[in-house]
Amino acid sequence: MRTREKRSEINTETVNWLGKEYPVRIIHNARELAVLDEIECRVFTRLGGDGEYVLSLIQRAVADRFAALCRKLNEEVRAELMRRGLTPPPTQITIKDMKSRWGSCSYTRGHISINIRLAAYPRETVLSVLWHEYAHYWHHDHSRKFYDFLLDMYPEYFRWNDLLKEK
Ligand SMILES: [Zn+2]
Repeated sequence: MRTREKRSEINTETVNWLGKEYPVRIIHNARELAVLDEIECRVFTRLGGDGEYVLSLIQRAVADRFAALCRKLNEEVRAELMRRGLTPPPTQITIKDMKSRWGSCSYTRGHISINIRLAAYPRETVLSVLWHEYAHYWHHDHSRKFYDFLLDMYPEYFRWNDLLKEK
């Protein structure tokens, strides 16, 4: 799957997380840590003047949360496949910052990569990419059969995946 454009989802003033925008608040103490909660992204730092450093703390917080989310979604997808009598191969999920793709599946090695930039989009959109990559285990191309399979598994696929085309 291709990305359409490159926008900055994270900067030192706002964080886009799962389809919502959160303001960044800098708090001067020495924890050197960013915490994303329901209303804002708090950055605890004493070294904080440098925007790039603050950004690195925010990126680490987002990457950790996103990795946990992907683990959870991966379990959901696998449970649904099993429920339908399909056995997915053992799969290692890797989160990467990719320039031109939202996800990829190496079906021979049991390896799925998910783009960290998806952290800015709704949970359902992340799920659509994961389903897309899982579908490649059964259909290696983007044929009609591939999409029939995908829509059967995740009927709201286009509704959520089309968000990736709008920007
Ligand atoms: Zn594909």
